[in-house]
Amino acid sequence: MAKWVYSFGDGRAEGSASDKNLLGGKGANLAEMCNLGLPVPPGFTITTDVCTHYYANGRSYPLELEEQVNAALDEVGRKVGRRFGDPERLLLVSVRSGARASMPGMMDTVLNLGLNDETVEALAAEAKDARFAQDSYRRFIQMYSNVVLGLDHEMFEEILSDEKASRGYDYDTEFTAEDWQEVVALYKQRVDCELGEPFPQDPQAQLWGAIGAVFSSWMNPRAITYRRLHDIPESWGTAVNVQAMVFGNMGETSATGVAFTRNPATGEKELFGEFLVNAQGEDVVAGIRTPQNLTETARRQAGSDKPSLEKLMPEAFAAFAQIAEKLESHYRDMQDLEFTIERGKLWMLQTRSGKRTTKAALKIAVEMANEGLISREEALCRIDPAALDQLLHPTIDPNAERDLVATGLPASPGAATGEIVFTSEEAEEAAARGTKVILVRVETSPEDIHGMHAAEGILTTRGGMTSHAAVVARGMGKPCVSGAGTLRVDYRAGTMTALGRTFSRGEVITIDGSTGQVLAGTVPMLQPALSGDFSTIMEWADNTRRMKVRANAETPADARTARSFGAEGIGLCRTEHMFFDDERILAMREMILADTQEQRRMALSKLLPMQRTDFRELFEIMAGLPVTIRLLDPPLHEFLPRTEQEVAEVAASMGVEPERLRQRTESLHEFNPMLGHRGCRLAVSYPEIAEMQARAIFEAALEAAKKTGAPVVPEIMVPLVGMAAELNFVKGIIDGVAKEVLAESNASIDYLVGTMIELPRAALNAGAIAEGAEFFSFGTNDLTQTTFGISRDDAASFLDEYRRKGIVDQDPFVSIDVDGVGALVRIAAEKGRAAREGLKLGICGEHGGDPSSISFCEEVGLDYVSCSPFRVPIARLAAAQAACRK
Ligand code: ADP
Ligand code: MG
Ligand code: MG
Repeated sequence: MAKWVYSFGDGRAEGSASDKNLLGGKGANLAEMCNLGLPVPPGFTITTDVCTHYYANGRSYPLELEEQVNAALDEVGRKVGRRFGDPERLLLVSVRSGARASMPGMMDTVLNLGLNDETVEALAAEAKDARFAQDSYRRFIQMYSNVVLGLDHEMFEEILSDEKASRGYDYDTEFTAEDWQEVVALYKQRVDCELGEPFPQDPQAQLWGAIGAVFSSWMNPRAITYRRLHDIPESWGTAVNVQAMVFGNMGETSATGVAFTRNPATGEKELFGEFLVNAQGEDVVAGIRTPQNLTETARRQAGSDKPSLEKLMPEAFAAFAQIAEKLESHYRDMQDLEFTIERGKLWMLQTRSGKRTTKAALKIAVEMANEGLISREEALCRIDPAALDQLLHPTIDPNAERDLVATGLPASPGAATGEIVFTSEEAEEAAARGTKVILVRVETSPEDIHGMHAAEGILTTRGGMTSHAAVVARGMGKPCVSGAGTLRVDYRAGTMTALGRTFSRGEVITIDGSTGQVLAGTVPMLQPALSGDFSTIMEWADNTRRMKVRANAETPADARTARSFGAEGIGLCRTEHMFFDDERILAMREMILADTQEQRRMALSKLLPMQRTDFRELFEIMAGLPVTIRLLDPPLHEFLPRTEQEVAEVAASMGVEPERLRQRTESLHEFNPMLGHRGCRLAVSYPEIAEMQARAIFEAALEAAKKTGAPVVPEIMVPLVGMAAELNFVKGIIDGVAKEVLAESNASIDYLVGTMIELPRAALNAGAIAEGAEFFSFGTNDLTQTTFGISRDDAASFLDEYRRKGIVDQDPFVSIDVDGVGALVRIAAEKGRAAREGLKLGICGEHGGDPSSISFCEEVGLDYVSCSPFRVPIARLAAAQAACRK
């Protein structure tokens, strides 16, 4: 018989941490904690296979499931000396979802399940605490009605706040047993009135309702969005955990809390967390009351006058601190823990690898490697290369003047400036228009994920360091300030007020997620640099990787940035970017519009010294590192005058009639410029352009070598070659110029001539091409366009739909299409190397900065990747990880 249910409890479990795929992350870790002998309320996990079965069979369960669930539930009852549904020996359970990958806040948990009008009395009698029992019941009705019956959470919050107000209470804790009983009655009335039937009283019906709700929630829009954003396959499914309840809301000696074994914002090695006395479940993260600090140190640092757990419940705290340490060294990673204290006794409810900022990830990886807990290789592999992006963003200049509006918690580091918006919809619309916004909310919920994504930063007025906003923002690498309590947000008026100042929707503010400050207006920012743990990790990465990392750069500023981020040369210098300058474009236009070769040479001679200076500067900055310069690539019409005024200006400079220019411009029009007169085709038609560029390169190389004393070996790259003969033709021009320059200057020049591989024909004929080419650089942007027959500029309208409909997983312009484009790269690499031993191979498309594409490049054995300067550190780490995996 198939096994659909796995039990845990009393120091043993049928599963373990290695069963994540089957039991989900939460279930597998609950089992593991049991196996470690930690205090975990007993329970069982319904496997992800049941979820798969459920969706494959019209939302129905396997036949044996009911029997297995009943047996497991009986076993839980035996372990705690109770029975589900039996008022005499009441067993209450929680029903918790748990997917393979942790999806915080995505799936809903129901607590206190098994309560009804009869059992609530039994609970009151047993606990000798009617208030606690009624509080548990109202929570259950609220959660169950929301998660299982689909009623709006707000409906119940409204009743609650009305009741609070009518009694003059500030906090939930002020409610008496009778108060709660009245709330329960109102809740039930509301359910009846909304649904036309009473709140379910039968515990069995409640249980199956909740199990069904967890499985259905796998397909709710929130979960789907989260999966899409995190590339989690739909096929994974979720497990369901059913677990005996323990109660943090049994009075002043009970509590519930969350903790990290190290500080998730800074990575500092210190127990870090929050708790609430006499509370249950998500109260801590929901921002209902302001939570208290776990440790005395943290309390002092936060300047809080509420006692820490360390002070308040020293025994439970000591037990917890010990378990935290044990779990961290067992899992060999920073853990995110959930616990409850019931009348002084500690219970562990969850452990998982904790989400952390990139800054913290670096610190933790470096320190754990230094502590000997993990190896350096593991440390490298623990860091998501793409997440380094967070540290490559600006922070507020410490010398800047700060117009302080409010201070909240430093929930997710980095600074951001933008216009105020108050809803996620507004944030999304504004981002689509290209407007930068700060999403300002009282608190965020899973429905806000899309808005948080669209915003530059997030500001909330309520909630702690573990609130939804804080956790999600850290995961996204977005700056976030949470719990800025002095701010008042008025959604209806579209305003935010602080200490008498009012800010309206659309006004610009800056938030500093590293200090928690909210500032008025725009504030000067500092550019990032590699230092501390970041540079340590980079050093380890450099010692591990095989591939070199270069940058795509043409301006001196970009080249300097690239070097400061550790680039080992320039892999792509797009010479056309050097022509868009005001003064140069005129000469460029004269060159393009010239009627005769003579006219064209005249114009080119104006461009020559400018190009020479550009190249010399690049060579000097790169000081002997390789620099690959690509000859003019784009179709000429990109440079043409568009406005009347531009036409007149060029005509005057050339001494011709504007009308003639207009005709010439029209004659250059192309139906499909991407496949038109561009790349090496330009050099074939107008060899003098390639001549000028080659001369500029050689002369610059000689000058730079003389100045820096380091030999310069330029790599001249011919774009858009499809046939060996095209390359050989252009190479002939370059070699000719080299001879001339040699004769003139009497200095020897070393240089390489190579080509981009960006057409399928070039890849397939790479052997013949390699006879004339000393290097290949895969231009995977164009290669993707020409392989798919998709123009990147026009792809947005349908590629997104392809992704939604599951036809493609990933945008092939972001991550290399291994099966098609990748196959061509492989063929070209093999044929090229077979024809020419030691042929240098690199990649210069945008894929050169994408970690999964970099991993592919390692597999194929490329010599280097080249990417935009700000992605160089990402590429260095990704290349190291790829080398480790090999
Ligand atoms: P999430 O995946 O959103 O973290 P959980 O399933 O962990 O949801 O449940 C949320 C919270 O509910 C837990 O952190 C814990 O405080 C509480 N909880 C869950 N199960 C139990 C239980 N058996 N006893 C007491 N509290 C529980
Ligand atoms: Mg949890
Ligand atoms: Mg190209």
